[in-house]
Order: sequence, then structure tokens, then C-alpha cells
Amino acid sequence: MDCLRKFCVDAVLLLKGHLEQVLRHLKTPLKTLSITKCPLSDSDWNHLSRCPNTRQLTHLELTDFSPEPLKILLESTVASLKSLDLEDCRITDSQLQALLPALSRCSQLRVLSFHGNRIFMSALRDLLLHTARLSQLSIELYPAPLESYDAQGAIHPGRCSQLCAELTAIVRDFRQPKVLVFCTVPCPQCGSMFLYNQGLLHCSCPTAA
Ligand SMILES: [Zn+2]
Repeated sequence: MDCLRKFCVDAVLLLKGHLEQVLRHLKTPLKTLSITKCPLSDSDWNHLSRCPNTRQLTHLELTDFSPEPLKILLESTVASLKSLDLEDCRITDSQLQALLPALSRCSQLRVLSFHGNRIFMSALRDLLLHTARLSQLSIELYPAPLESYDAQGAIHPGRCSQLCAELTAIVRDFRQPKVLVFCTVPCPQCGSMFLYNQGLLHCSCPTAA
């Protein structure tokens, strides 16, 4: 593991409780850290966030997280991080809020993938405001706000479209986004997401329009 630059694990259940042992063998700073569908213990998260070799990450991908260690990890990588993937992380509005000061300083960030999380309009608005100075951002994927769904969880296309247009306008106030997309949860009938990219793209179900 002398010059390991990438650490990617997917669905490795046995990692829990053993991450410190793995990290201890790293001799060089990691560039990529991807831990997906691997449950970790609190102490694993703490080791991860304090490990000196995770301070120059350029790519970070997680599907689980622990709020405080993730905040520390982000704070220590603001100067190097180019892509952040927190898709389907089950992050809440208040947990997101805690990450925003660090996120707003990730000046090298090019790709931000944040869809699949259940976030309300006000928190999304706040998230976007914190991207004002991220001039390198070229691909941004956000969830459609929770207000886009009715009480039964069905996508309300008109409302979704209007809210995503509002969010897009917020971004356009301070920078010119390149790829800025809002994604809904998958349609229960066909599994496709509705995508908003300056207009709403529906799934192909006859009931969707
Ligand atoms: Zn559909």
C-alpha cells in the first residue's frame, strides 16, 4: 500500500471497526476516497476524518456518513477537493446546514453530486447560495425539493418545475451554471427520474404529464 492513491470500497460489510488498521498502512496522501454501502462505526469515522492522509483528497464519494467527521473531512480538503459525491446519503436539512461553511470554501470543486437526498426548498436555497464563489463548478446535481411532491409522495410536475426554476434563477444571479440538474425520486411506475434542466423532463408514463 506504499503509494496507494485511491481507496474505493463498495458494500464491504467487514470493514466496520477495522478502518483504522487499513488507514494506518497508508504511506502517501490519498487522492480518491470512495466508501459506498459500507456501514462504519463511529470510531471508523473519527479515524477517517483525522487521518493525515485524507487531507489532500480530490475526489470524495460516500453513501453513509457521520455528521461531525464529514464536516472535519470537508474542512480539511477545501483546498484540494474537485468532486464531491454525496448521492443518496440520507442527509437531513440540518446536517446539510452544518456542512455549508466548509462547502462554500471548496474553491476547486468541479462536480457536486447531491441528488437522492430528501431536502426542503429553504435548505436547497441555502445550499445554492453557498456555491456562489465556486467558480469551477461545471456539473451540479441536486434533488428536487420535497415541496415538489404531494402528500402521497407523488411528483407534482407543475410545482416541481416552478420550484426548480426558482432555484436555477438563484444560481444565475451570481454565476453561470454549466450543467445544473435537479432530479426527483424515481417514478413508482417506471423507475425513471424527472429531471429539471431549464425545463422539466418527464418520465414516459402516460400519467406523468
Ligand atoms: Zn414513469
